[in-house]
Amino acid sequence: MDLKKIVNKGINDLSPYEPGKPIEDLERELGIKNAVKLASNENPVGPSPRVLQSIENILKNTHRYPDGNATKLKEVIGRKFSVKPNQVTIGNGSNDIIEFIARSFLGTDDSAIYSEHAFAVYPLVVKAVGAEGIEVPAKNFSHDLDAMLDSIKSNTKIIFIANPNNPTGSFIGRAEILKFLDKVPEDIIVLLDQAYFDYSSFEDSDVDFDILNNFPNLVMSRSFSKAYGLAGFRIGYSVSSEDIANYLNRVRQPFNANSLALFAAEQAIEDEEFMNKCLQLNLEQKKVLYKGLESLGFHCLPSKGNFISFDCKEDSTGLFNRLLGQGVIVRTLGVYKMPNFLRVSVGLPEENLIFLEKLQLTMS
Ligand SMILES: *Cc1c(COP(=O)(O)O)cnc(C)c1O
Repeated sequence: MDLKKIVNKGINDLSPYEPGKPIEDLERELGIKNAVKLASNENPVGPSPRVLQSIENILKNTHRYPDGNATKLKEVIGRKFSVKPNQVTIGNGSNDIIEFIARSFLGTDDSAIYSEHAFAVYPLVVKAVGAEGIEVPAKNFSHDLDAMLDSIKSNTKIIFIANPNNPTGSFIGRAEILKFLDKVPEDIIVLLDQAYFDYSSFEDSDVDFDILNNFPNLVMSRSFSKAYGLAGFRIGYSVSSEDIANYLNRVRQPFNANSLALFAAEQAIEDEEFMNKCLQLNLEQKKVLYKGLESLGFHCLPSKGNFISFDCKEDSTGLFNRLLGQGVIVRTLGVYKMPNFLRVSVGLPEENLIFLEKLQLTMS
């Protein structure tokens, strides 16, 4: 049997998404217990203590299915951000949302637009449904919004924008986003992926859900995996018009978000004090990393997220492997067509120091 012949054509030349190396794997390989993982843009502080407090009560009820409509979480999000619960769609991570959008709006005759060096999941979901992916060259490692508008074809259904973008960290401010949205034809869906919104809005003026009133073709997604510290739970959401949300919910698997994740998100979103502490820490520690990397001679891309990508001036695999040997996990960016770059997540102060120390060691 030739699987190649029977498989959905779109996925023939895809490779599976490559996650950061798990910390347990490296510790086993090196026989150490203190590996530092700065590879997946997680919140190094952990989840809010509020999340851990009553989760045992939820555990006791895990023989029941979760609330398939996520009624409570949608209400909490609605109250917090002044949107209607029916505008909210809940995903098993915001990657789930990205897939709902592709499956809701793309067929094999359609195309979708995303930027070079943009988040790797966009081409995956587009090609998985057999649609055409249009990759638009980046400008200074950032989305070239005008070029993206110029790339629209008559069969284009979706434009993906990651803001801030991962892995480049690039950020487009409020005014420019609004100007872009004004120019997008209204029968094209724009996904504004705000996985790092909490970080960017802490540093600069970003767009909030209120703009949805002006753009019925807009979907805004956010994640609990990054600043909220819930990556292992897998929970994210989008806010859109109620009509779009209704379609997204048609392709959503029943019970896609589990009971623990729903509870954790409800708790985390209410703990503003914890969030603010984490955002402040990120800002301070990002400066420490910039300073350290630049003093070692690396050119760093400006980042509004909780990570920094830096240029190693040669294929970065060697440096990546030497760091691994020192118990430090960062990320190579070959799949993003940035083979000379490494991406490091902002960790705890002691983790960042170890990273800089080991980096210096591997260079001398
Ligand atoms: C991490 C990330 C996501 C998705 O994260 P989830 O864990 O699925 O919520 C989405 N977009 C970008 C740009 C990201 O970096």
